[in-house]
Amino acid sequence: MNQSSVLSARSIYKSYHKDKIEVPVLRGVDVDFDPGVVTALVGRSGSGKSTLMHLLATLDRPDKGEVYFRGQRIDDAPRARRDAFRNQDIGIIFQFYHLLPELSALENVLAPTMISCSVWNYFTHRKEVRLRAEAMLDRVGLLHRAKHKPSEMSGGEMQRTAIARALMTDPSLLLADEPTGNLDTETGRDILKLLSQLNQDDGLTIVMITHDDSIAAGADICHRMKDGMLESAGEFANSSEPIRTSSPALSAA
Ligand code: ADP
Ligand code: MG
Repeated sequence: MNQSSVLSARSIYKSYHKDKIEVPVLRGVDVDFDPGVVTALVGRSGSGKSTLMHLLATLDRPDKGEVYFRGQRIDDAPRARRDAFRNQDIGIIFQFYHLLPELSALENVLAPTMISCSVWNYFTHRKEVRLRAEAMLDRVGLLHRAKHKPSEMSGGEMQRTAIARALMTDPSLLLADEPTGNLDTETGRDILKLLSQLNQDDGLTIVMITHDDSIAAGADICHRMKDGMLESAGEFANSSEPIRTSSPALSAA
C-alpha cells in the first residue's frame, strides 16, 4: 500500500448472498486516499459505492483484500481498534443524516462523545465537550439552530448537524455517502462548499460518494465504480490520469 496515504484499499472483494445465489459487488478494488485530497467515488445506483464505504469504515468486512489506515491494517484489527478507528480517526456522514429525532442539534452533536466517554469522564469534561460541540455547530454555520430538533430543521441544516457531529473528534478523514443525495441542487451546493472549506481550512481528507457526475467533477480526484472495480478516473475525463481539477476543490460542483 501507499505509505503516505491516509486510507488505502487493496484487492477488495465483496459478495452478497441472496437465496443461495452469490451476488458479486466488489471485484478487486484498489484505491488510495491521500492527505488533504478530496476524492469522489462516482457510480450508478447499485454499483457498490456504499458497500465499499462500509468496508473502508470497517462497518463490514471484505471477503478478500485489505484496508489500511496510515499504513496499518485495519480491516482485521481487533474489535476495540476498529471501534476506536470509527469513533476517533474518521468521521462518517450519510445521505439521510442519521440524527436522533428526540435530540436537539447540539445534543445530536454531543451524543457520540457522551456515549464513547465513561460516565465519570463525561462528568468531568462535560463543559469542555459542550463547548466543543457548540464550536462545531458554529463551524458549520448552525449555532443559531442549536436547540432545534431534526423535525424543526431543513434538510441542509440536518446535514450540517451531521457534519458537525462527525467533526467532534477532529478526524483526519471524512467519509461521506451521498451527502447531497437528499437535498435540492442549491442546498447540495452549499453542503459541498462547506466540505470544500473544511478541506481547505483544516486540510481534512474527504472521500465523497455520489451518483452525480456534476458533484464528482468538483473533487480533486475522481474514481468511477464500474463492474465491481474502480476504473481509472481517466476514462471519466477521456484521459488515462485521474482528474485533478484546479483548486478550490469542489468549486465546480
Ligand atoms: P450503491 O451504493 O452504489 O448504490 P450498494 O453498495 O448499496 O450500491 O449495493 C451494491 C449492490 O449490492 C446492489 O445490487 C445491492 O442490491 C446489493 N446489496 C447491497 N446490500 C445488500 C445486502 N445486504 N444483501 C444483498 N444484496 C445487497
Ligand atoms: Mg449507496
